[in-house]
Amino acid sequence: MSPRVLSALLLVLPFAITSCGGEPRQPSQSTTTPEQKKPVAPLVPKVEIHDWCKEHGVPESICTRCNASLAAGFKKKGDWCDKHDLPDSQCFACHPGLEAEFKAKAPKGAVDK
Ligand SMILES: [Zn+2]
Ligand SMILES: [Zn+2]
Repeated sequence: MSPRVLSALLLVLPFAITSCGGEPRQPSQSTTTPEQKKPVAPLVPKVEIHDWCKEHGVPESICTRCNASLAAGFKKKGDWCDKHDLPDSQCFACHPGLEAEFKAKAPKGAVDK
C-alpha cells in the first residue's frame, strides 16, 4: 500500500462515519455547558439593604451629614449646594422632586410611609 492511498483513506474515513448515520454533534454540545455552572454573583450586594440613612433620607454611604469626609468628593465633582451645605444631588430644598426619588430607591422597610 502506498502512503498516498493511506492518507486518502484517513481523509475519507471521518466523512464515511458521519454520513453513515453517525452520532450527531448535538449530544456532545449539550453535555459541555460550563457557563451555566458558574456561580452567579448577585448584582446588588445584600449589604446595601442596610445602606440607608433614615434621618436624612439618602443612602448612608453618600450621606454627607453623617459622614462629613464624603463632602470633599461631591465638591470635587461640582455636585455641591453651597446654600444648604449639601451635595446638590441630595438637596431636597433646591430639588423638591429628589426626596421622592430617593424614597423610591430606598430599601424596603427603610422608609416609613
Ligand atoms: Zn445621614
Ligand atoms: Zn440647596
